[in-house]
Amino acid sequence: MKALFFYAPSLFKYMPHKLQNLESDIDQNEERMAETKNNTSTEVKDISYQPNIIEPKWQAKWEADKLYRSVIDEIRPKHYALTMLPYPSGDLHIGHWFSMTPPDARARFKRMQGYNVLFPMGFDAFGLNAENAAIKHNIHPKKWTYQNIERMRKQMRTMGAMFDWEREAVSADPEYYRWTEWFFVQLYKHGLAYRKKAAVDWCPKDNTTLAREQVKGDERVCERCGTPVIKKELEQWFFKATKYADELLHFEGIDWPDFIKVSQTNWIGRSEGASVTFKTEAGDSIEIFTTRPDTLWGATFMVFSPEHPLVDKVTTPENQEAVREYKAQAEKQTDIQREARDKEKTGVFTGGYAINPVNQERIPIWVADYVLMSYGTGAIMAVPAHDERDFAFARKFGLKVIPVIQPDGVAELNGDTMETAYEHEGVMINSGPFNDTRATNDKGIKNPAIKAVIEYLQQKGTGKMDVNYRYRDWLISRQRFWGAPIPMVYCETHGWNPVPEDQLPVLLPDDIDQWKPTGESPLKFHPTWKHTICPIGGEPAIRETDTMDTFMCSSWYHLRYLSPHNDKVPFDDAEYNYWMPVDTYTGGSEHANMHLLYFRFFHKALRDMGITEGSEPVMQLRNQGMVLAEDNHKMSKSRGNVVAPDVLVQKYGADTVRAYLMFFARWQQGAPWDSNGIEGTARWIRRVWALFTEPPSTSPKAASDEMIRTLRRRVHQTLKRVTHDFENFEFNTIISSLMELLNEIYKAREQAGAIVHTKEWMEATDIYLKMMAPIAPHITEELWTNQLGRPYSIHQQRWPTVDEAAAKEDSIEIPVQINGKVRDRITVSAEASEDEIKSAALASEIVQKHLEGKEPKKVIVAQKKLVSIVI
Ligand SMILES: [Zn+2]
Ligand SMILES: [Zn+2]
Repeated sequence: MKALFFYAPSLFKYMPHKLQNLESDIDQNEERMAETKNNTSTEVKDISYQPNIIEPKWQAKWEADKLYRSVIDEIRPKHYALTMLPYPSGDLHIGHWFSMTPPDARARFKRMQGYNVLFPMGFDAFGLNAENAAIKHNIHPKKWTYQNIERMRKQMRTMGAMFDWEREAVSADPEYYRWTEWFFVQLYKHGLAYRKKAAVDWCPKDNTTLAREQVKGDERVCERCGTPVIKKELEQWFFKATKYADELLHFEGIDWPDFIKVSQTNWIGRSEGASVTFKTEAGDSIEIFTTRPDTLWGATFMVFSPEHPLVDKVTTPENQEAVREYKAQAEKQTDIQREARDKEKTGVFTGGYAINPVNQERIPIWVADYVLMSYGTGAIMAVPAHDERDFAFARKFGLKVIPVIQPDGVAELNGDTMETAYEHEGVMINSGPFNDTRATNDKGIKNPAIKAVIEYLQQKGTGKMDVNYRYRDWLISRQRFWGAPIPMVYCETHGWNPVPEDQLPVLLPDDIDQWKPTGESPLKFHPTWKHTICPIGGEPAIRETDTMDTFMCSSWYHLRYLSPHNDKVPFDDAEYNYWMPVDTYTGGSEHANMHLLYFRFFHKALRDMGITEGSEPVMQLRNQGMVLAEDNHKMSKSRGNVVAPDVLVQKYGADTVRAYLMFFARWQQGAPWDSNGIEGTARWIRRVWALFTEPPSTSPKAASDEMIRTLRRRVHQTLKRVTHDFENFEFNTIISSLMELLNEIYKAREQAGAIVHTKEWMEATDIYLKMMAPIAPHITEELWTNQLGRPYSIHQQRWPTVDEAAAKEDSIEIPVQINGKVRDRITVSAEASEDEIKSAALASEIVQKHLEGKEPKKVIVAQKKLVSIVI
């Protein structure tokens, strides 16, 4: 469609503009208005909104101009905005857009506020995600991964995000994983990486070991594929994450969501209690950990895990056959089967006895599969009167129940008739020297009974205060091909040694036929790769053929962005000193106990090795919710409910997709997709376009002072709200505020067409475009630079300042209560005094009617918020 262009844009293009603050904005607007009035250009211009033309055009220009290149600038304050990098396992989906474009808008906002913003992007290219997709398509993982990266880069460019592509980091590039390997070697040299034989979690579908964090829920399924995991006894590499268990519980000084902090705290699972030494009758020590040492006198039996090393020794000859059979069946079960709460308790008596160290009672030792070797020491003291699981076991096998905590105000507990364990506060009984000691509901040594018993145990030398963690060291070996090689070499004489640093990286071989997982590391089957020489003695040696967990790659990617092509160091010190720590990190909360814990551990370990500084890598964390499909389910190809962003971009343009993703849900909550809703956002974008490109329909009429004041008030009120909402990740209300303001602007122009010749109109539309620029970077650039002829680029303008005086309301509305019920609302000047408000309320017709000519008993004006009248 061709139409007359309302303003004369070409004239503005060559005017020098330097927009610092509101006043100069207005001065310049006056200049510009003068020019406009003297010009009666009739330039003809295509004014239809064509995002498919303007979006690629600006993307190309920004890139050519390096508009988003972030370099150290000591003058400006820095802002490192990090958003989680994707796995290159397929096309970019709507979830990527939802996780990346609102944070992009916020990064742009920070930039307009004057920060030097770093907003980098890369690919988490190694690991199960990419590899499993490659297997499915029967394409070599390297080929598959790099094809996807190429395509996803293109798809990401359509977002119009301010990613600094010169800082891109790809974890499967040798220039990247050289340093992943280097970090492994540093951890090894500092005693934080070690090899150990242990019963580890194994996914039978992915054919690899998993870290405990990658085993999900009570069902204990693989985090990637949902298959129940099994246990395997294997020699594997671990990182000593537990060294930092206590420090990881501290979140002081960082602004993270409570949900994540609680999740990590529970995962680390710190509990205070005592370790206590029992003895077998033969004199062997049995270590146990208990959070309830105050119930020691009620320990009437012990239970060993079937794998406990003392099982065979304590088993008497007549019980050997039963114990052997029981151990055999336990081996076949997964931990989940063994630990299931509703499961009928099973167990066998060993025939052996232990001595309870506090009262010298002889107590039977049982074997039961609900005790796992991987928790605590693999042996427990059982206190059936005060622990539900022990109680069920005792009742089933007819074992003694002795109550040692008496609840208040009820008859003394009887071990023979109790129907359930009692797990709360009371007074210690049947406990020798501790009878009558108060046991509270407090955990750990805050509980006086626990504190007293621990002191007693320490004096006697049979126990001590101890802390137990659920947290375990990070298992990082994977029996898979597509990962960073573990740079370790084994020789018979010198054992395990790291590959010398000047020989890194150990490259993954390209010429490998057998890369699919079989349960054994694929690298084992390569004819030559594993053969090398010992770094100590030079004799023939064998490489480690397992590869690293991909979470190792992502534990330091934020550091590689600092200097992605540096071949001397993993990251440059000057870059680190300027940009770190990350100011704002955004991404999914599903990583709460995985990546978000691993990279905190990693940072602390690096700090202790003198590589990084400070205790935390990230100051502020915010998590987006999830975009569900319209049917309320997770989007998946198999369900056929996937929303493809590329199709939406083609239909509506990236600006609309970006704006809609900010609008349709609270970003931190997410919501099901609504394909009809996007039309409303598309209409808003088109109306913005029309405001600047189409002439107003009404005939010019002068605007009153009142109308102009109202327009300015709305603009500055909106600016205030939008600024606040950007800071607080409240993207949906930003869009609705802008939609409302657009209506106000249109209304002002309809009421008085000549308002477009005022400097206040110019101010309003300038501020409008600036507020909208982070959300819809292309249309605003087009309108700003090409239609209004303002100085390129809008993305280099300063965020406008709120004029508080202008934002102030002229009048306020106050509800009027009569005898406690709101009966009317009055409108008074915002400056009105209490007396003026009072008389305005009493003058109200409705109030007059209720008063029936009488005087009110009482009139109270509550802080200009409420008038309360009692009659
Ligand atoms: Zn799996
Ligand atoms: Zn050697």
